[in-house]
Amino acid sequence: MTDISPGVRATFFGTSTVYLTDGSSHIMIDGFLTRPPLVRVLLGRVAPNPRRIQEILARGGVSALDALFVAHSHYDHVMDSPEVVKQLGGTLHGSESSLNVGRGANLAEERMRVIDDGGQFSFGDFTVRVLEGIHSPGNRYPGTIDKPLATPSKASNYRDGNCYSFHITHPAGTVLIHPSANFVPNKFNGLDVDVLYLGVGILGAQSEQFRDDYWRHVVTPTSPSRIVPVHWDHFGQPLSRNLRALPPVLDKFSVMKAYVERKCAEESIELIVQKAFETLDLFTAPARA
Ligand SMILES: [Zn+2]
Repeated sequence: MTDISPGVRATFFGTSTVYLTDGSSHIMIDGFLTRPPLVRVLLGRVAPNPRRIQEILARGGVSALDALFVAHSHYDHVMDSPEVVKQLGGTLHGSESSLNVGRGANLAEERMRVIDDGGQFSFGDFTVRVLEGIHSPGNRYPGTIDKPLATPSKASNYRDGNCYSFHITHPAGTVLIHPSANFVPNKFNGLDVDVLYLGVGILGAQSEQFRDDYWRHVVTPTSPSRIVPVHWDHFGQPLSRNLRALPPVLDKFSVMKAYVERKCAEESIELIVQKAFETLDLFTAPARA
């Protein structure tokens, strides 16, 4: 029998930037595409590169957007989000801190929506539920952004604001996008998840106990059939190059990789490492065309 449901396709752009579409409605998480070099992040100022953003969106086949959801307001999540919304249309959804980045970019107030824990937004067949969490350990720039943030700006001005995960339901299936590798105990109990985009940034540098607790509070209660790791890549490198891991001084990639591979094998979860610009058919087998 032919399945006439359109399905949901997800295109990955490194960090926790993911684009979801069923052909009718279109949702993006973060939209961080400029990826300035880390030396500029540490010593200089950062700003969106509109031309680079345009080229990357075109290469990824992204030409429509209903809503962009920002996980938190560190530069590697929020920085490009107003520019992406300006180029594609749609609305920017984020914490007050994230909206202040939109205001600094002169994005009109009616194109922004503030989000809170438990908030729910529908776009066609998609429903996005907002779940507040906590940033991964070692938050370099804690706090909030309390006034419009114009660019170029020091990366340290991008305070994290609140930290969110997104539970997205669609008639074809459910996906949880969990960008930051930390957990609120029991927060995800009872959550129905087919595909988990699992934040693993700096997870390799944490203790084995932390990794086990993380798994127990994020993966076990959601029992996904597929996991796609996110935020593992070296985000100071442009997307014109293949994604590679963060350098050892920042993360122990091999430790994280071995852990996630072992756990997925033990629990019969399909592990998919998505390449930049790669599109997956999220809820049908096989995911890769
Ligand atoms: Zn962050």
